[in-house]
Amino acid sequence: MKKPRKPKTLYEVLTEAVNYYVDNGWDNEKSLLSWSARLRAAANRETVSPTTTRNHLTAIYKHLVIDGGAIRDQPFGGPTKVTLAKVRPDLRKELERRIFVSANLIKLNREAAIEKTIQRFQGWVSSVPPGGTNAIDRVEQKSQIRAKLSEQTFEHRRVAIDQGHKLAANIKDIIAKQGGAIAVKWHSSWRRPGYNYREDHKERDEKIYLLRDSWAVKQGLIKPVNGYYDEITAVGEEVFCSCQAIYIYAPQKLPDEFLTEKGKREFERA
Ligand SMILES: [Zn+2]
Repeated sequence: MKKPRKPKTLYEVLTEAVNYYVDNGWDNEKSLLSWSARLRAAANRETVSPTTTRNHLTAIYKHLVIDGGAIRDQPFGGPTKVTLAKVRPDLRKELERRIFVSANLIKLNREAAIEKTIQRFQGWVSSVPPGGTNAIDRVEQKSQIRAKLSEQTFEHRRVAIDQGHKLAANIKDIIAKQGGAIAVKWHSSWRRPGYNYREDHKERDEKIYLLRDSWAVKQGLIKPVNGYYDEITAVGEEVFCSCQAIYIYAPQKLPDEFLTEKGKREFERA
């Protein structure tokens, strides 16, 4: 009995396609579409597995939630009675969401890269003179056409890093709100050499934004000075933002201008 033939790799199909056109030159549209379809099928077979990203996100989750890092890393005066068990379903959901989004982004990037590869191939074919040519460096052509697909590893890593920031930021946010946080102090890493910071995020550095509907707002103890946190993009929300939110839990930790008259009386700052 004959063993089923192993499907050809993208590189094998690409080699055949390049050789075909080097030998024959442009012949007709039908054969170009047929080669394009074979290339697309081969590229789709070589799907990149999202395992690396999943492992990265799961490791962050383990550090912050399972090992309690999100609570341990809180500044002094942070929540002391937060029960992780209470918010764990929300945290778990956030992890699953990030894994889903990452896999989806990687898939979309991958599809775009495959289309780009096909485009390049077709562009190259249109430049081959009729009857073929011997002057073409086949290796060079193949590597150029494949270049876009090789960028995938890099894209992959960027997706993993960015989704990791978002996961960590959202886990901390869920825990902080559960723990009675009342405000957020923005921290931008604009001082870090080589960090491509956003100008408007640098301006937010050290600014304090109130959390809407916190117990302290409800009791009329504090008022917004720079507005509420939900009026701006959150840390990590924009692509590659690695700003951090430092949560504040007590009105006494806020500068005077955040206290209402009632708040000042309450904390004897009048
Ligand atoms: Zn930022």
